[in-house]
Amino acid sequence: MNMVTVPHPEAQLSDDLLRRLDVPGPRYTSYPTADRFVEAFGAAEYRQALRQRAQGAVVGGAPPLSLYVHIPFCESLCYYCACNKIITKHKSRGAEYLELLAQEVDLHTAMLGTHEPVSQLHLGGGSPTFLSDDELAGLMDRLRRSFRVLPNAEISIEVDPRTASRERLRALAAMGFNRVSFGVQDFDADVQAAVHRIQSYESVRDLIAEARALRFESINADLIYGLPRQTPESFRRTIAQVAELRPTRIALYAYAHLPQRFKPQRRIHAEDLPSVEQRIRMLGDALAGFLGNGYVYIGMDHFALPGDALAVAKRQGRLHRNFQGYTTQPDCDLIGLGVSSIGRVGATYSQNAKTLDEYRDALAVGEFPVVRGLALTRDDLLRRAVIMALMCQGRVEYESIEVAYLVNMRETFAAEFERLRPLAEAGLVEIGEQAIQVTATGWFFVRAIAMVFDRHLQADRQRERFSRII
Ligand code: SF4
Repeated sequence: MNMVTVPHPEAQLSDDLLRRLDVPGPRYTSYPTADRFVEAFGAAEYRQALRQRAQGAVVGGAPPLSLYVHIPFCESLCYYCACNKIITKHKSRGAEYLELLAQEVDLHTAMLGTHEPVSQLHLGGGSPTFLSDDELAGLMDRLRRSFRVLPNAEISIEVDPRTASRERLRALAAMGFNRVSFGVQDFDADVQAAVHRIQSYESVRDLIAEARALRFESINADLIYGLPRQTPESFRRTIAQVAELRPTRIALYAYAHLPQRFKPQRRIHAEDLPSVEQRIRMLGDALAGFLGNGYVYIGMDHFALPGDALAVAKRQGRLHRNFQGYTTQPDCDLIGLGVSSIGRVGATYSQNAKTLDEYRDALAVGEFPVVRGLALTRDDLLRRAVIMALMCQGRVEYESIEVAYLVNMRETFAAEFERLRPLAEAGLVEIGEQAIQVTATGWFFVRAIAMVFDRHLQADRQRERFSRII
């Protein structure tokens, strides 16, 4: 049996365990997950949540906000894409979209005022760098006039290396961006051709060097394994090249081939995809390669250099998780702006219209473009606390949950403790008298451990089992 020796933390992952790791599952950037949102939650409910936040701010001062702005445009289509995007070469579409964003911002400031503190701001897509420097600067100006962006705020942007240059990074730094994320995916020319995303190693190398020179506090590289024409040999080269470039963070995603659901993926030939064995090898090589090169495993496919804020937060038990993934920012309300954006205000989640037409129509009548969402129940809040403690601290102290939610952990989660047992026997988790503790090996499976506490998922499984029986 092949074993991957993972130097930090001390853990050994057999092929069998790696196979269990290479399965799709919720990423728990929220709980309940976005696929549970309902259409009964709309603009009126979102207004109510904002109103409550505004009242809270008057009474005791609400915590700072996180802002997410979705820029849906991309110039060309990557065949593996599962994002909400609009492919266009017409740069003029950016200006019209910015106008719509401004209207959405105004709807918010009409309810919240213009002094809401912001500690985190992220531009994602699509490709935010579809917009010109002037357009991006205009957007940042607008946001700064509408919110009080705090001096130490994390301000991040996703950068498509094909639409960036050293000058562009300098412009982004001047706009106040202090975190940057590059979509790398794979450096192999064959793989790049198969996914229709051509970008040279040299261009990414130069951009990362420039970002470092400009003192971006965090430089992330996204990679994907399981892409067409990828082989363990070719991916090992990419892993080595990326490790050598020393981005402060690396996100390694598994490609899920779902051509029925994501139309672009129909251009990928199934026969070009690596076998399960090859995927397992690539995952094992990536874990060993990055951890062997001094990266720390943060959790859920994320690695960071020991000096990066995420790694520091992990060591100090201060990790948090929101729609942008792991973060050092304490839980805060999130305002999602733009097509398909997701927000979290108080005990609610909300999502904007996914098409530009729907989004525009709502704004045209002065309404928030929220089309679905969820008001969390007490049970949702309780389970969210447990799932986030597992995902972020790798430990659930019974007392802290019991005091906060007035429950008895063992009684309330009797079935969950039962379901945890096989995971404990596999050495992934320890069920103690005072706490559930994720083990060093278990960190790699933290999603599977969290899934035990996902009521919606377990209900689905029971329904499936039931329908199989009948
Ligand atoms: S993968 Fe990213 S850059 Fe490529 S089409 Fe999708 S959103 Fe655009």
